[in-house]
Amino acid sequence: MQSKKNNMTGQLYVVATPIGNLGDISQRAKETLEKVDLIAAEDTRHTGKLLAHLGIKKPMQSLHAHNERARTEKLIDLLQTGGSVALVSDAGTPLISDPGFPLIRAAQKADIKIIPIPGPSAVIAALSVAGLPCDRFIFEGFLPAKSKARLAQLKTLTTETRTLVFYESPHRIEQTITDMLAVFGAEREAVIARELTKTFEQIKQASLAELQAWLQDSENHRRGEFVVLVKGREEKQPATEPEINQLLKILLEELPVKQAAKIAAKLSGESKNKLYELALNFRQKDDR
Ligand code: SAM
Repeated sequence: MQSKKNNMTGQLYVVATPIGNLGDISQRAKETLEKVDLIAAEDTRHTGKLLAHLGIKKPMQSLHAHNERARTEKLIDLLQTGGSVALVSDAGTPLISDPGFPLIRAAQKADIKIIPIPGPSAVIAALSVAGLPCDRFIFEGFLPAKSKARLAQLKTLTTETRTLVFYESPHRIEQTITDMLAVFGAEREAVIARELTKTFEQIKQASLAELQAWLQDSENHRRGEFVVLVKGREEKQPATEPEINQLLKILLEELPVKQAAKIAAKLSGESKNKLYELALNFRQKDDR
């Protein structure tokens, strides 16, 4: 029963499209858009322009935040009767701060084959040129629009040591950098990647204070689309053995062994028991 159904089902392609420069469309993305029965697009007019550029004529259906639950059912029906569908968003990779999540979940549940056609995504493009550590990073997408909620969200990230990546719109970029400055400090290193792959592309790397001034400097700096990257908090360097010894000796001049060991453990991150033993040794040597 299951295998018969599988033989009949079509395939769902999740197709990345350019984030500005149409030359970034991949050969495989083009071929996929050409061969599917239907394209589910975030905005059919927007995708219509891309298809016109590629010389592709194909039926489209919109799938956006306001209709995706209802549309998902219809798309699953089509897929279950053997139709193939390409999911695209206005720019970049679908589902990355874009619609499509309910469709993928429903397709998984219906045992429909889902095939990624990878390509551009602003988060990855920005990371690749930011000059910030990107072996480990966290993607936070868009911050809340309201200032109080935005600050609260940023505060949850104060101890994060991985590079932080955010999407931001032109009318909130200035306020967001100001809020980041308040939470992470003026000196924290950050990058604004603006208008990636487009004519006025800029990658500006500086401290948050300098970025705030840069945005205030020119209206042009506040135009377009933005990825904001913030360096994670510096990992605390573990104290070296001579540093720990010195710290303990200083504390022992003023405090009993137990208390000195406790404070030294807190400051150095070393184990309290180990430092207690060490402190006892130091005290015994001093007493001799
Ligand atoms: N799905 C897309 C992707 O894979 O990058 C993201 C869609 S999200 C609705 C749009 C946001 O992505 C923009 O507000 C901006 O923060 C970021 N973005 C998209 N294109 C960009 C570009 N060319 N330069 C900088 N940021 C961009």
